[in-house]
Amino acid sequence: MIPAGTNIYLDADATRIKGFLESNDRESERLRHNAFRLIVEAMNDQESREITSAEDLRCLPLTLWILRRIGEPILTSRVLNHARDLLEGFLMSRTIASEFVPDYARRYGVTMEYDEMTGLYMVRAGEFVNLTSRLSGYKYRLIYQSMRHGTVYCDREVAAKIVREAFVRKLSSIFNGLSDEESYSITAPVSDNIDEIIDIFQKSGIKKSIDLGEVDATLFPPCIKEYITQMRDGVNLPHMARFTLVSFLHKIGMNNEGIIGLFKTAPDFNERMTTYQVNHVTGEISSTEYSPPKCTVLRSNHLCYWGEDPICHRDWLKHPLQYYTYKKRKKSGELPLNKAKKS
Ligand code: SF4
Repeated sequence: MIPAGTNIYLDADATRIKGFLESNDRESERLRHNAFRLIVEAMNDQESREITSAEDLRCLPLTLWILRRIGEPILTSRVLNHARDLLEGFLMSRTIASEFVPDYARRYGVTMEYDEMTGLYMVRAGEFVNLTSRLSGYKYRLIYQSMRHGTVYCDREVAAKIVREAFVRKLSSIFNGLSDEESYSITAPVSDNIDEIIDIFQKSGIKKSIDLGEVDATLFPPCIKEYITQMRDGVNLPHMARFTLVSFLHKIGMNNEGIIGLFKTAPDFNERMTTYQVNHVTGEISSTEYSPPKCTVLRSNHLCYWGEDPICHRDWLKHPLQYYTYKKRKKSGELPLNKAKKS
């Protein structure tokens, strides 16, 4: 059983949502108010956000329809991440007793049990690895967990992170299933409010273009282009993709300020943390200047996007930096087209 008033249903059925938008009852008014408030909060800096209770997240299905109509991926990601963080805060709070956390996990498709004897949460190893793949920090790596017979035993902090990841994935999948066209007719009663939100968003400067300075982005390998595109679209990159991007840009001559500026478009951007990580990877505050991982490593981590790219499929191509150097030499005429090395 879940305590009253804390259910977060994710039913985005079009008729149901239309009902909320056309009705004047108090509950519908409240949902509408919260849906817009959630979007505005997500646009603000983290520090200036008001606290929204988990109960307010019941407006999320309506929020998703509004976001579908607005059609700004970076704004959608910000709102989803804001909702995700609110849910995590709620799961970590005293409002919810330890044994109720797995109810939320199950609601978002994760099999989780609470072990009263140890006070730990049990999750299948496969689900653990899948849901923690985008989390940074040793605490979320399988190797640091207690494991027995394919089950991971984790503490509440890790369990809350797993639930929040499942929650945000569920939100994304619902969002991706909403029709663009239908979003216009459904949200018609709140068109004026949506126009106001679009105006605030455009003035906010959130949608910055990515400035790569002197670096020639046309020579980037597909993996690096994909990470940049994802970041521009408001996707939180997995740890290894961030590491690859930072070390790659550093090695091809981009300064740390430029690299940090690039990450400003990320929905979970934190200037202090990003500066520390960039300075660490580039050797500014550590004794090592890291290089990007090899193609085989990126491929085994599902971070290679070679598609049909002819250079990526050459036998000699082992590293994203090799791709860049090869293309640069070819562009400068150092490697005549017909003499370029072939596999
Ligand atoms: S083959 Fe290498 S360079 Fe090409 S996309 Fe994959 S990881 Fe990147």
